[in-house]
Amino acid sequence: MKLLDLHNLSQKRLKALQSAGIHHPEDLLDFFPRRYIDKSNIRPIKMLQEGSEPVTVVGTVKSKQVTGYKQKKRLEVIVQDQTASIKAVYFKGWRYFITQFEEGSLVALYGVAKRFGHYFSMAHPEVDVLKRVEETAKYDTLHPIYPGNKHFSKAYISNPLIKDWVAQILKSTSIPEILPDNILKRHKLPTRDDAYRTIHQPKSTKEAEEALNRFKYEEFFLFELSMARIKNIQITRAEGAILEPGDLTRQFIKKVLPFELTEGQKDGLSDIRSDLNSGRQMNRLIQGDVGAGKTVVAIGSMLMALDNGMQAALMAPPEILAEQHYQTLTTYLEPLGVNIRLLTGGQPAALRRDVLSDISGGGCQIVVGTHAIFQKKVAFNRLGLAVIDEQHRFGVKQRNEVLMKGDNPHLLVMSATPIPRSLAMTIYSDLDISLIKGLPSGRKEIKTAVRTDKERQNVYKFLEQSVRSGDQVYVVFPLIEESEAMDLKDATMGFEKLKRHFPDFKIALLHGQMKPDEKDGIMKRFADGETDILVSTTVIEVGVDVPNASIMIIEHAERFGLSQLHQLRGRIGRGSKQSYCILMPDTKLSKDGRYRLKKMIDTTDGFEIAEADLKLRGPGDFLGTKQSGLPEFRHGDIVEDRLLLEMAKNDAWALIKSDPELESAGLGGLKKVFEPYFRERAEFFGIG
Ligand code: ADP
Ligand code: MG
Repeated sequence: MKLLDLHNLSQKRLKALQSAGIHHPEDLLDFFPRRYIDKSNIRPIKMLQEGSEPVTVVGTVKSKQVTGYKQKKRLEVIVQDQTASIKAVYFKGWRYFITQFEEGSLVALYGVAKRFGHYFSMAHPEVDVLKRVEETAKYDTLHPIYPGNKHFSKAYISNPLIKDWVAQILKSTSIPEILPDNILKRHKLPTRDDAYRTIHQPKSTKEAEEALNRFKYEEFFLFELSMARIKNIQITRAEGAILEPGDLTRQFIKKVLPFELTEGQKDGLSDIRSDLNSGRQMNRLIQGDVGAGKTVVAIGSMLMALDNGMQAALMAPPEILAEQHYQTLTTYLEPLGVNIRLLTGGQPAALRRDVLSDISGGGCQIVVGTHAIFQKKVAFNRLGLAVIDEQHRFGVKQRNEVLMKGDNPHLLVMSATPIPRSLAMTIYSDLDISLIKGLPSGRKEIKTAVRTDKERQNVYKFLEQSVRSGDQVYVVFPLIEESEAMDLKDATMGFEKLKRHFPDFKIALLHGQMKPDEKDGIMKRFADGETDILVSTTVIEVGVDVPNASIMIIEHAERFGLSQLHQLRGRIGRGSKQSYCILMPDTKLSKDGRYRLKKMIDTTDGFEIAEADLKLRGPGDFLGTKQSGLPEFRHGDIVEDRLLLEMAKNDAWALIKSDPELESAGLGGLKKVFEPYFRERAEFFGIG
């Protein structure tokens, strides 16, 4: 069957459908109703009351006429039943509707009745042409309303037209099943064929919901099936070096570290340890709130590689974070005689050559850097483990490129976006996941407050006292690409203002457009306690660690997203002192803005904040669909339909485990749909 075989489908309408991506009858079946209406509430016209609830009236067409000029042209139809008459008015699409009304024929109108003088009138009622009154029995099933006409740019395509086409298609086709039989039975899901019929012609909203759930399940299932197969390929393909902790690891933990590991850190390291001697390549995600102490876990893991004569790499953009990690590692590991090198894009050529040859020669044991360290030109001597910090900045493809480097290095990715564990397990299911729970002990909960510009003098007084007693302060300004120049000016002006206000304090300005050396120097002086107040744009958002800094002022706080605010705030509260975060919004706050600031005051729990942010922004924006490797789901929402997603995951993984190539009888339909889907996903993941 072709689209053009459908009744009432002209070339013009065909073009309109095509422009909306509908090329085959099946595509039209995938065009789901946006909602349903219940036409069973039939009223005599005389009994109508002015109201907002839509009703149905059934009567005979008395007259029809087109009136008005140009833009105001409209179709007016008078319909009469045994009690009274009503006027139906159509402004849009009247050329189509005029064909629906024959004088003397029986019609049902569905809409909201409004009174104009003596008359009742309905604007744009749904119309059904009836042969007999008894036909209204069909109003026992719900009436679908398809997404608005804005989808079809080239012609007016009315709801009854789509409804009718869909009915024609459903009459002449039966849709093959793709889900395995046992799954349908276990979850009592309707068959694909039934689900399509129901979604377009449901008897009840409950039935429609069940059908929609089947489609959600189906797309989640295909997605998880692809993740399971990707994981399977990784496991079977990738042997990994067997690494055991040795002297360096032990000395680092027992002698060098000035503190005890937290339980969370111990758990994380123990997961990593068992991955590293499994003989298979590790591919693990460490999730932990800001300040949980992920760096120490990264170092511990890298030392396990060194203990076995292999190299390790720590990738942590932007540059400022890489440099900070380099400092930390140097402080910890130089006493142990470890050779660490920094590799960033901005280094002078001679230095870079030296670093590169040190890496390829094998003298360099740990390389810390930005994206630069996984470029093709960088040849490792024996790379045993790669760590990626702040993984949300990377695409899945890059992650997999690292996995496929020579020597099959083990991979550890770290993230401070603490999405709920069950969700993480379903969407990052190609990775194994460890959670570093809790923060190092002895931390005091950060106190957060909102202050307006009117209260600035008080805030400054507080700053003054704190700095005099030895605290260090961050003052953060937003910087977004679209308004970069303005934002930079804002930060610079804020910096000048502070300098004027506190002439005897040491105040520095830090932003992304400075030269690496310059940034480096500023950061170092702040970390060493030489600078009192660091005014900065969001470059300090990730990873930066200065435990003595205990106050943060966030200017234009309303412009930051929740997770970003949480990340920023995570820069303080790292020492044993009481820390304070002061959010200073502009006076005008949107509803969302107010909610975000309130949430920041109410909690410091990264999971709670992430969950709220996820709700506010939706999964696409929150996770960055591209980065997370998540496809756009057509029907399902990974947050709202979390349970379905989990169900689909369990089923998909069990199936791939028992039948990786989907060769069992009864899986033909699934295989046909899945193979092209998988090829696309595999390419996206950089897995050939
Ligand atoms: P994140 O998880 O955000 O990357 P970091 O690794 O930067 O956190 O650690 C935050 C701070 O906590 C650092 O100053 C670090 O030295 C300190 N820290 C890490 N582990 C512990 C621990 N077990 N006990 C006390 N302090 C710790
Ligand atoms: Mg970190």
